Amino acid sequence: MITLKRREEVDLMRQAGRRLAEVLDHLAALVAPGVTTTEIDRAANREIRRRASFPGFLGYEGFPKHLCISVNNQVVHGIPDGRRLVEGDIVSLDCGLIYQGWWADAGLTVSCGEVDQEGARLIRVTREALELGIAAAVPGNHLGDIGHAVQTHIETNGYSVVRGYTGHGIGRDMHEAPEVPNHGFPGRGIEIRPGLCLAIEPIVNEGEPGTLVEPDGWTVITADRRRSCYFEHTIAIGSDGAEVLTRLPEAV
Ligand code: MG
Ligand code: MG
Repeated sequence: MITLKRREEVDLMRQAGRRLAEVLDHLAALVAPGVTTTEIDRAANREIRRRASFPGFLGYEGFPKHLCISVNNQVVHGIPDGRRLVEGDIVSLDCGLIYQGWWADAGLTVSCGEVDQEGARLIRVTREALELGIAAAVPGNHLGDIGHAVQTHIETNGYSVVRGYTGHGIGRDMHEAPEVPNHGFPGRGIEIRPGLCLAIEPIVNEGEPGTLVEPDGWTVITADRRRSCYFEHTIAIGSDGAEVLTRLPEAV
């Protein structure tokens, strides 16, 4: 069932989103050669809790840590495990929190030190795909318009869209209806209406779209072992379009 959020509910989700944006800003700045994924995980726990929020990933379907960290050929759901980051890694941070009963879910891929040109292009194109998806999330459009915008940008740049993992509705639960695929046809799917809150999260492979799950039961890797990249925002649809709840206000 799809629930549309009332104004006062979106207000709380905005407060959750702002907190998560601050946390991710902090975590992204930690990514550097020599830093371990466990250090970033501990920082996530600390930064979330000091904002009167709960690290919702902890224990979610049994997930053992406070955020997902996926490096290079890891696609999503990587478990912080003490891995030491090295120069040139591309590092996806996916984090969620619960504030006063409301979820925010967001993430980004950052380069560790200097990344090669192709890695930098993969990151840029994926970030742009998310922005195009958000721009398509306006009242009167359909879910398929979001997926189509994301897919078109990814594929015209020579990359592939991972199919098995999608964006989603969000609110009192992290994963609510509807699913928000990163591919689709214009005009298909449910109509986008004010009060709809979504997490949009393009997941982009440098090579083929196929993925595998590691024996830990969580970490998704590319089948061809090439790199993968990811960006995510939680948004709320208003009468004029999408408001990004997990973006920090522009510095002036
Ligand atoms: Mg999500
Ligand atoms: Mg997420």
